[in-house]
Amino acid sequence: MNKIRFYKSIHVKIVIIYVLLILIAMQVIGVYFTGKLEEQLVNNYFETLDERANLLAYYTEEEMKRDEETEERPLSRRINELILELFDNDNRSNTNVQVIDKNNTVISVSNPSQRMNIGQRTTNPRVKRALLGNPLDPEVLVNPNTGHRTRVMAKPIPINSPEIIGAIYIEASMEEIYSQMRQINQILLTGTVMALAITAILGILLARTITRPIVDMRRQALVMGKGDFSRSVKVYGDDEIGQLARAFNDLTNKLQDANATTEGEKRKLSSVLTHMTDGVIATDKQGKIILMNKRAEAMLEQKQEHVLGAELTKILNLDKFMKLEDLYKFTDPILLDFDYDEEELILEAHFSVIEKENGAQNGLIAVLHDVTEQERIEEERRDFVANVSHELRTPLTSMKSYLEALADGAIEDPEVAPRFIQVTQTETERMIRLVNDLLQLSKMDSKDYHMNFSAINLPQFVDQVVERFEMSTKNDSISFKHKTPNKDIFVYGDRDKLTQLLDNIVSNAVKYSPEGGFITCSLKEEKERVIVSIKDEGVGIPKENIPHVFDRFYRVDKARSRNLGGTGLGLAIAKEIVLAHGGSIWVSSDWGKGTMISFSLPYVEAVTES
Ligand code: ADP
Repeated sequence: MNKIRFYKSIHVKIVIIYVLLILIAMQVIGVYFTGKLEEQLVNNYFETLDERANLLAYYTEEEMKRDEETEERPLSRRINELILELFDNDNRSNTNVQVIDKNNTVISVSNPSQRMNIGQRTTNPRVKRALLGNPLDPEVLVNPNTGHRTRVMAKPIPINSPEIIGAIYIEASMEEIYSQMRQINQILLTGTVMALAITAILGILLARTITRPIVDMRRQALVMGKGDFSRSVKVYGDDEIGQLARAFNDLTNKLQDANATTEGEKRKLSSVLTHMTDGVIATDKQGKIILMNKRAEAMLEQKQEHVLGAELTKILNLDKFMKLEDLYKFTDPILLDFDYDEEELILEAHFSVIEKENGAQNGLIAVLHDVTEQERIEEERRDFVANVSHELRTPLTSMKSYLEALADGAIEDPEVAPRFIQVTQTETERMIRLVNDLLQLSKMDSKDYHMNFSAINLPQFVDQVVERFEMSTKNDSISFKHKTPNKDIFVYGDRDKLTQLLDNIVSNAVKYSPEGGFITCSLKEEKERVIVSIKDEGVGIPKENIPHVFDRFYRVDKARSRNLGGTGLGLAIAKEIVLAHGGSIWVSSDWGKGTMISFSLPYVEAVTES
């Protein structure tokens, strides 16, 4: 948050407002007060002056009317004494009083410096008008050089009588009043400055009481913004700001609770998303990725931070087939096929729309479910059904045609009939073998398949099985080599199943061996396991076919296998048996040179045959 500029702060504003208010108040009071005071002083002065002028006129008239002969002192002296009495000594320099007789002759002056005017005729028009009984109103004259104001007046003697015997003329300086006013103004100004200074200090203190809680709240709001709700604002009083601080603290507590709840929910959601076995991707309204859980990261081999903001359709490789709007409408799941380093991953994607409270579309949630295994099993199931149908149809078709031929009369032919019957018998036997093999596999696939384990002396056991084959293949000129050690090596196993395992492997070696070929049976002891290998010098298996020979119905050469009576299930059964014994089976072969099928079984020490 920005720092508040000094001159914009409430603190300064309050101080300025206070000072301005006081300034205006003082100005208004000052102007009114000084105006009124000045008016009062001037009026008083004028009244006093008028009274004195009237008194002077009255007493001068009295003196003038007195008989000169009987008076000891001359008139001018008596009038002078009157002037001195009425206009006291202090003001004599400021007030210039003249008494003039009816002949315009100055008979007395108050100011000693104007004594030379005594006995002179005055030319003052104001005096003349007074002597004529038509006096001018008193007037205030301003000296243009000094700016000093003087009140000028002339009065006839007597004041209200048509028989005028003289006049008085007064020039009274008003400077004393104005000097007083200046002093008062000075006092007022000093008072104003002091009031302003005190107001400014009070304003600062007052503003601080208002702004301190606000500053506290601002600071608190800033730390709250960073997620810290631990502190609270100090409540300074019970006024509006105090109540605001209290409300702010309440709000902080509620926010803290709400935040804790949200955090908790967030953690729960995040934990749910993290531990989900399905991938989850969330997008905004524009289909840009805003969230991706760990499972989705693993499925798509992408890190969340790298795909944030990327388009969902692009990340799911859907951009070539559909647009974002299609996904909003899509209700059925979509199968996505990914190939990573030859490993196939099939994902089933379900899309659902995130809606706002008002129902508007606000994004998408894609839930990705790994269906690779499911799809593989489904495909295997389809292949299996197809294979079984095919395997059964081939002998049935052949039998049908032979039986038809027999029915059509071939049965009458003593040469053909036995051959045809022989073929149908062979095919029936192959079908029985196939069905038996299928039953066997189906049993092994079922969960409650159990075996009869017992300790078996393996070299002896292998030799017995191989000897049985030796006997039955005597005429085929196939030779067997026994490389089994002449000692007891025990394994735990199901005797019947292990017999079938060896039968399947050895019968293959016999089937695919040429005439005069050698079949070698060897047995090797390792630290924790025993390895049995059956090696032939037959047709061999091409390299690319080797990984598939243990798959159900897989045959390298279908025609040859079928002719040799194979069902394509022999090695698949062998693998299941070995796995059920906790061992493993593998093949090594050179195309055209021979094949070696080996299997291992866990080795059991110090057991006796049961
Ligand atoms: P089949 O009944 O066809 O023999 P198997 O499951 O036993 O079915 O064997 C699968 C395929 O593996 C056979 O069709 C054959 O092509 C190949 N195969 C198995 N054993 C040998 C072997 N010893 N020599 C050459 N090919 C073999």
